[in-house]
Amino acid sequence: MNSYHCDVVVVGGGVAGLWTANRLVQQGRSVVVLEAKALGGGQTLASQGILHGGVKYGIDGAKREIAHQLRDLPPRWLACLGGQGELDLKSVRVLAREQLLWSRDRILGGFASAMARKAMQGVVEEVPKNHWPEVIRSSPPTGSLYAVQEVVLDILSVVTALSKPLHGKLIAGDIHQFIPRESGLAALEVALANGAQIRLEAEAFVFTAGTGNERAAEALGFGSTATQRRPLRMVMARGMNFPFYGHCVTASPKPRATITSHPSDDSWVWYLGGEIAEKGAALNPSETIERTAKEMRAIFPSVGWHTVEWACHAVDRAEPRDSDGRLPPEPYVMARGNTLVAWPAKLVYAPLLATRILASPSLMNISSKTLPPSDFSKLPQASPGCPPWLLPQAWTRL
Ligand SMILES: Cc1cc2nc3c(=O)[nH]c(=O)nc-3n(C[C@H](O)[C@H](O)[C@H](O)COP(=O)(O)OP(=O)(O)OC[C@H]3O[C@@H](n4cnc5c(N)ncnc54)[C@H](O)[C@@H]3O)c2cc1C
Repeated sequence: MNSYHCDVVVVGGGVAGLWTANRLVQQGRSVVVLEAKALGGGQTLASQGILHGGVKYGIDGAKREIAHQLRDLPPRWLACLGGQGELDLKSVRVLAREQLLWSRDRILGGFASAMARKAMQGVVEEVPKNHWPEVIRSSPPTGSLYAVQEVVLDILSVVTALSKPLHGKLIAGDIHQFIPRESGLAALEVALANGAQIRLEAEAFVFTAGTGNERAAEALGFGSTATQRRPLRMVMARGMNFPFYGHCVTASPKPRATITSHPSDDSWVWYLGGEIAEKGAALNPSETIERTAKEMRAIFPSVGWHTVEWACHAVDRAEPRDSDGRLPPEPYVMARGNTLVAWPAKLVYAPLLATRILASPSLMNISSKTLPPSDFSKLPQASPGCPPWLLPQAWTRL
């Protein structure tokens, strides 16, 4: 078996691994990313691409901590999008600069007062009735409508932009075996996409492998209770003739539906998250689609839904264990000697996670090897995957 070496091996090429690998390269480290499927092909390309600034979480008192943590992250991304940030994301496509947030109920005590407070602080802006979009105005009576300054990104363009500077350092392969040392890892035996096996040696290892972190956590002795999954079934409506970005909320702390829109051929796919996607996880695909379509008809009765095609995509959110099984309030890093296991918890947290990884003693204390790093460019290379609406799906009309 041939051995390859570098300073840091990053396992998992989603947003967390790609962001971290870029920052390590900037620091002069030799880095390689190992990806088992396609770059972004886990949660990242299945995400809605929203740079949450915390407004959605601020409505729910129990999530105030998340809302607070999130405040500083969108500006960090926006600097990158403008070419002045820590990474160059100038080529990333911005799909929307703001989202709408509204309720179908006239009186929603908690929500209405939370929004009024935010409007006072300039965090959201109430949209006057004469500026409401037609699709909301033409629907049954509604309370208030707010514009939230939260950007939505075309996530495939994010993965493409993050993978470009890592050209030749993105290996397509999966872990065959963990080779431990006294604390952490000495090496990984890797089964490459072409069937060959290699040994990857490094001074440090960083796991940003989403659901794949479970295996790493077990191998490093953290046990199976260190991680959690929260399943979603995201429904897609294809053939929409206009884009829409917004959260429809109810008295429940979770949005009833979070809608983002993504270009596909010459129309739009509406990608539907929120409570409907969480409830869908307990149903079969056709039940999920039927229930979601009913919800969409109730929320947007003026839309011509009969021409729309529907499909759904099951995906698990992979996170460190939260005692109540909920979204952890911040990105999280576990260390064992020279090895880290890390989760961003949200796409928007990727820059903060990378900062925490870089500041970890497991990485700060490594000395770059005296040997020059191996040339990884001749090994099979991983490339960006596809978002769910561009993957083969069983589209159906209702
Ligand atoms: C439906 C959905 C919508 C979301 N929407 C938003 C949103 O709008 N805004 C937001 O901020 N967050 C959102 N999130 C959360 C966000 O997508 C995730 O927190 C983030 O993408 C996680 O990134 P990651 O790089 O840690 O994991 P992943 O993207 O899952 O990447 C992990 C990678 O590791 C690879 N891997 C696994 N095992 C191995 C192995 N053994 N060897 C090599 N590679 C391996 C996988 O193939 C995968 O590519 C959403 C999540 C979901 C599921």
